[in-house]
Amino acid sequence: MAPEQTYDGGPVAALRRIAFLMERGREDTRRVQAFRAAAAVLLPLPAEEVAARVDAGTLTELAGIGPSTAAVAESAVRGVVPERLARLEREHDGPLAAGGRELRKALRGDLHSHSDWSDGGSPIEEMAFTAMELGHDYLVLTDHSPRLTVANGLSVARLTKQLGVVDAVNEHLAGTGFTLLKGIEVDILDDGGLDQTDEMLARLDLRVASVHSKLRQDAAGMTQRMLGAIRNPRTNVLGHCTGRMVMGNRGTRPSSEFDARAVFEACAEHDVAVEINSRPERRDPPSTLIELARDLGCLFSIDSDSHAPGQLDFLDYGCERAEAAGIDADRIVNTWPRDRLLAWAAKAG
Ligand SMILES: [Zn+2]
Ligand SMILES: [Zn+2]
Repeated sequence: MAPEQTYDGGPVAALRRIAFLMERGREDTRRVQAFRAAAAVLLPLPAEEVAARVDAGTLTELAGIGPSTAAVAESAVRGVVPERLARLEREHDGPLAAGGRELRKALRGDLHSHSDWSDGGSPIEEMAFTAMELGHDYLVLTDHSPRLTVANGLSVARLTKQLGVVDAVNEHLAGTGFTLLKGIEVDILDDGGLDQTDEMLARLDLRVASVHSKLRQDAAGMTQRMLGAIRNPRTNVLGHCTGRMVMGNRGTRPSSEFDARAVFEACAEHDVAVEINSRPERRDPPSTLIELARDLGCLFSIDSDSHAPGQLDFLDYGCERAEAAGIDADRIVNTWPRDRLLAWAAKAG
């Protein structure tokens, strides 16, 4: 039997790391949730109380701690690497994609992420802390807009409240060099309008605009709809432009039909970045469209579209695709320092 390895991270860090590795390995989110919930239960408890419960074998008397999460916490408290953590490190650590390593190092942040305020699985602060731990300088929080009720889209009132939470998170992280930026993934409405008031959009640092409905409408209508959003001076990033799904538990779905040349020419003209969405089930846009946008002079963003902290690492997949298409790092807006990104995104003045 291999000798036990020492571990000094404590039980909360061990549980968070396990959840992170399961998420980046795309394990079922309900299985991951037990570890995130257990970390949240132990976080506020004094270390002496947790240690006393380990000695007494009473960790599982706490609501939210079951046998598997208790086993992890017990090993960590005893200063030994939990067996489950060691196994997951072996299975899931290391780059997610073979290519794109240089580009991945050049990325300073991520422009597309969701918290449990819309359809993500974790609180805002957990997303921010994890992004900071990954070495990001910034993460844009882009929860959904009101019309996407299936994803619990944010009304004006809820978004207003969320902006206060973002301020509080940033106060807590002051001096770390990391900033949580205010954003939205705003639905592109049928008429090309954006699904949030202009006053609210103006209060944000950056806006990703995406189509989530009527994906099968005719090409002429879809093109006009996308052009309307791209011409809106509030739009900074065109999210997952084709809407396709290439795999996954939601099934597959073909690309929407639209005049890609007209759409990307408008993106270049109006300084809107074309998103390379890193989610493995999206791989959006397809490679031929990434190359078309490249040839038409577009800017790009490489985004995780993460709905859980571990998915923030999905950027590896997008970097591999951008490198394969020969996209220069300086044309990818999230390689830019925060202040340059913010100046670019504030184009509406
Ligand atoms: Zn989306
Ligand atoms: Zn999204």
